[in-house]
Amino acid sequence: MAARAPRPDPYGALGAGPSAGAAELRRRYRRLVRTYHPDRQSADAPAEAVEECVRKFIEIDQAWKILGHEETKKEYDLLRLEDDLRNLGPVDAQVYLEEMTWNEDDHCFSLSCRCGGKYRVSKDEAEEVTLISCDTCSLIVELLPRS
Ligand SMILES: [Zn+2]
Repeated sequence: MAARAPRPDPYGALGAGPSAGAAELRRRYRRLVRTYHPDRQSADAPAEAVEECVRKFIEIDQAWKILGHEETKKEYDLLRLEDDLRNLGPVDAQVYLEEMTWNEDDHCFSLSCRCGGKYRVSKDEAEEVTLISCDTCSLIVELLPRS
């Protein structure tokens, strides 16, 4: 079986956390690009150092291609979220959105978890997210497409 390629971590490449906002990401990107730009390396730097620099520069560039745009960033965040959830544990139940309760106050659908906590999903998220984690325990429900 072929080993799975490690998933690129654009946040890590920019030295930022997953909750970093657009302005912070941009700031970090600009600073890193200045540091690692191949044109800025001294001519007598050892070959390995130059190579490492180029590798890093490409990594930063690719990270920015994902995180520098609202659309691609959103897509990546969703994938990441689902990945995180899958790593958390098995799916506890499958639900249709119609089975969840709409809360006018906080504009989200919710469902009680057996731990007493709640599964919550906003209207927008419900269109794209398929796994929802309980806000209290580690249980997950799978949101099924509309019947
Ligand atoms: Zn729970």
